[in-house]
Amino acid sequence: MSPLTLQSLWSATAIAGPATGELTSSRRADVVIIGAGYTGLSAAVHLAEAGRSVVVLESTALGERASGLNGGQVIAGVKHDPDQLQRMFGEARGARYVQTVARAPDTVFELIGRLGIECDALRSGWLQPAASEEALPALAARAEQWRRRGDRVELVSREQMQRLTGSQRYCGGLFDARGGTVQPLSYVRGLAHAVLRFGGELFTHSPVVRLARCAGGYRAETPRGEVTASTVILATNAYTGSLNPRLRRTVVAVPSFQVATAPIPSQLRSQILPGGQAASDTCRLLRYFRTDAGGRLVMGTRGSYAAAPTAHMARHHYQAVREIYPQLAGLDFDYHWGGFVAMTADHLPHLHELAPNLLAALGYNGRGVAMASVMGRLLAQRVLGMPAEELGFPVTAVHPIRLHAFSRLGVRATIQYLRLRDSLERPRR
Ligand SMILES: Cc1cc2nc3c(=O)[nH]c(=O)nc-3n(C[C@H](O)[C@H](O)[C@H](O)COP(=O)(O)OP(=O)(O)OC[C@H]3O[C@@H](n4cnc5c(N)ncnc54)[C@H](O)[C@@H]3O)c2cc1C
Repeated sequence: MSPLTLQSLWSATAIAGPATGELTSSRRADVVIIGAGYTGLSAAVHLAEAGRSVVVLESTALGERASGLNGGQVIAGVKHDPDQLQRMFGEARGARYVQTVARAPDTVFELIGRLGIECDALRSGWLQPAASEEALPALAARAEQWRRRGDRVELVSREQMQRLTGSQRYCGGLFDARGGTVQPLSYVRGLAHAVLRFGGELFTHSPVVRLARCAGGYRAETPRGEVTASTVILATNAYTGSLNPRLRRTVVAVPSFQVATAPIPSQLRSQILPGGQAASDTCRLLRYFRTDAGGRLVMGTRGSYAAAPTAHMARHHYQAVREIYPQLAGLDFDYHWGGFVAMTADHLPHLHELAPNLLAALGYNGRGVAMASVMGRLLAQRVLGMPAEELGFPVTAVHPIRLHAFSRLGVRATIQYLRLRDSLERPRR
């Protein structure tokens, strides 16, 4: 089977990024940030805006990892429902936690507006279409819990969901007015422009290969340069490598893959997601989909660890498009690309203080467009002196996942199992 040509729709349609290059000198800063995704760039924007000197070091070009590759779905909340979060974290802390995650999309759209980022931002809501009747009670409970807290989250009928998605596949589901979409790579590049505008520095193709303590803080070494800073933020998420093996073992990097169709023919465009919402369905192996500013359908689901994905691998995606939108049969697929999502054992993101003045945030479980933007802000607030208990998000100890070395095997087996269960439950035509 011949390998696919991998190119993301986002790299073909994004705004230009700033001119950046490799670090080739010794520098000093208040804060060195390792990783230029949403976590690192949001932290850098907030710190540079507050007058701190910041250097961001990125191992690849800008936006070549999850933040430049994702589905661009801006989603409120985390995987757990608000009542459950409140049980987990207690009455007062739980309420603040719920508030932080509920307002996560506000951070994204506020940053985009305030910084003037051109990234096709659309606050049109997020849909969770129910793939089966069995999914509806949990969605109803979710909607009720958010509504009780004053948020506009509604259970919609089969007919309403069919109108919203343009698909006959679903039997109702959730409409969440807090969410929306962005062009994810343009959002990365816009944040990077803002960091530079506020006086921060950003170096690409500059992997930090060693992080050492030194007088006055830490020294981050790259192949041809180094940065000395009193504070370090590790913002490497699913791509955390050997720099901090304990942190790396707190997440499992799960592959996710996307395809984008050719532009949808004009006579069909007004049927497919006419309100511009993003959607992630309730299948065990969830399918997430949206349209882009050019009228293409973007569809994602779990991918594979293969270094050279083949058309065989993309066939699940083609099938998903045909199943959800049979009216698009015959439309070409112009773009194929994938990346790694950082999953945690408790399905929650984490903010850690690994050592004095060494902070990290990661583990967004597929909801990092909003949550990583928030975590960047929280990391900056902590560096600027906010007490941990006032952040509205817990600072937790690092708990590496047991048997982490076998996680890939586990992910592969789980994907196969979930795929099988989804296919057994799929309605027969
Ligand atoms: C295919 C896909 C689809 C997704 N869809 C969605 C979605 O629709 N909605 C949503 O909310 N979330 C989605 N996600 C998740 C979301 O993209 C991530 O949670 C988010 O981008 C994480 O941002 P980050 O900055 O923490 O990590 P990243 O964007 O991965 O950035 C980490 C950076 O650290 C760099 N790095 C690593 N090690 C070093 C080092 N030693 N030195 C220097 N730099 C280093 C990496 O190169 C990388 O650029 C998706 C993810 C993928 C992969």
